[in-house]
Amino acid sequence: MKVGRTRLPEAEASKLKTSEDVPQGVSRERAFDKEAWQPKSELGKKVKSGEIVTIDEILDKGYTILEAGVVDALVSNLNSDLLTIGQSKGKFGGGKASIWRQTQKKTQEGNKASFATLTVVGNHDGYVGLGFGKSRETVPAREKALRKAKLNLIKIRRGCGSWECACHEPHSVPVKVKGKVTSVELELMPAPKGTGIVAQKEVAKILAFAGIKDVYANAKGHTASKLNLLMACFEALKNLSKIKLKEVDHKTLGVIEGNLQ
Ligand SMILES: [Zn+2]
Repeated sequence: MKVGRTRLPEAEASKLKTSEDVPQGVSRERAFDKEAWQPKSELGKKVKSGEIVTIDEILDKGYTILEAGVVDALVSNLNSDLLTIGQSKGKFGGGKASIWRQTQKKTQEGNKASFATLTVVGNHDGYVGLGFGKSRETVPAREKALRKAKLNLIKIRRGCGSWECACHEPHSVPVKVKGKVTSVELELMPAPKGTGIVAQKEVAKILAFAGIKDVYANAKGHTASKLNLLMACFEALKNLSKIKLKEVDHKTLGVIEGNLQ
């Protein structure tokens, strides 16, 4: 028997009922109860005891975050949102964009559907994370995506690399940067104040969560693959911090890392 995986056409996929209604828009995380939190990892214990007091102490040393509580405890004002990764297959744009990417796996017991979703978390001020979650059910897929987004949190390097603007404030990106995932490449370019985020809608959400206010995003390749496009955006944000900048450039470009000078 052939076991394979196929992407469902949107028309068919929409017939599959998800087990819950997903609220649209940004959701604010419930207040984290640090007192009640029982950390399991070494890092978590250090955060709980107060040995580690900032997220930068973790991100700068490249420690792996193993539990979401670490991020909940250290990053205030964390918000999350689900990103649209479901592909519209309608020939005339008929299919509806969805936060779910549904696949069907052919097994000996029959067809089994699975749900995948992508979540962004961030504080709109220098910290953002992206997480992919997949499960047979929608609720665990969402939970997995949210947890992974927190574990994948990165620090954003911001600045003003726009020669038209040259305001030395961190409202944009300090330099041009690219991110690539499979055939999709996304380039972020500095933009002057007041430009806003010029990007595909879901890419714009990630950039806004990261705290970037003005930027041009230019995508190339197979951009219909939303998941790859959004992952390419996250790669570009990671690459921002890898670019070597001289001390003098730090000042001229008004660079901040995370939300500190
Ligand atoms: Zn500027």
